[in-house]
Amino acid sequence: MAQEMGGHAGEAAAADGVSRVASRNAPAGPSPFRVEAPALPVAKFADPRWTAAGEERARVPLTRLETLWLNTGTLCNLACASCYIESSPVNDALVYLTRAAALPFLDEAQTLGTSEIGFTGGEPFMNPDFLPLLEETLARGFDALVLSNAMKPMRRHEAALLELRERYGAKLVLRISLDHHSQAVHEGERGPRSWGPAMQGLRWLSENGFSLAVAGRMVPGEDEREARQHYAALFAREGIAVDALDPARLVLFPEMDAAADIAEITTGCWSILGKSPADIMCATSRMVVHRKGEPGPRIAACTLIPYHRDFDLGDSLAEASGDVALNHPHCARFCVLGGASCSA
Ligand code: SF4
Ligand code: SF4
Repeated sequence: MAQEMGGHAGEAAAADGVSRVASRNAPAGPSPFRVEAPALPVAKFADPRWTAAGEERARVPLTRLETLWLNTGTLCNLACASCYIESSPVNDALVYLTRAAALPFLDEAQTLGTSEIGFTGGEPFMNPDFLPLLEETLARGFDALVLSNAMKPMRRHEAALLELRERYGAKLVLRISLDHHSQAVHEGERGPRSWGPAMQGLRWLSENGFSLAVAGRMVPGEDEREARQHYAALFAREGIAVDALDPARLVLFPEMDAAADIAEITTGCWSILGKSPADIMCATSRMVVHRKGEPGPRIAACTLIPYHRDFDLGDSLAEASGDVALNHPHCARFCVLGGASCSA
């Protein structure tokens, strides 16, 4: 579930020539969350060491691998307007990650003392190996964070989920995307008839006592405090036990658009912005992806840039422990200036 952490335009299409394929439930118009900004100049984000203005580009060292994300594959029951990974019912640019292929990474994560395994897609529940992999993850003592749209693919596994909740309690967290507190905006992004099933899925999780979070967004200009109040009213009306005022339970993501202009991040930005490289997502996480056509899974620097070769760090966590150059618009807009983290 890419948007459960922030799903957006262009990246996959640009990288792999995958075009958005219309599906029965695809939204008809442009995304209500689209970024209004001029086009990104081609000179920006062109050199991993230097910005277009000739300043030294910021880098982020891995401090500790706290979260390992497993991308279960890009296939999804939805085709959201600005899904950054271009998921859809037909896009398998990232193929299903098998249990067997994922196990060596769980082994490695255990030796590194990683505490959390995150699952994202596409829609994880569509991957036939997902439930066995989730069970293996929890049995090994990891915390598990599952990003889902809570629609039909998840509902097919209610019995297995209830059993996992029984055995592992709050070690299993499901974070469900509800793009907006209003049905119109949510369906503008996610397609017609996407609201009702998501609300039903959320209610089912809530009524059955799962540890639950929601991932949302704000339309341009929307005030965060007001957005949280609207979500709170919605959750109260619908009987969903999520504290909308808690940023860890209702995660509101900033926007992403790889084609829109944004400032590049230099080494001087940290002190100007009052931020530290240690606060950035790639200081504490990596993602396993299995790209179509490749012999096995590889490690991407983060959840947001699964296709770009410059952010491919190797085929083991040991190999992927180096610095990351912030040489992508997502680094600036989402992570440094937007201040977001997929594990928040
Ligand atoms: S629901 Fe599917 S299409 Fe929509 S943002 Fe998530 S992964 Fe992308
Ligand atoms: S988008 Fe850039 S800064 Fe953000 S986590 Fe990924 S590599 Fe790091």
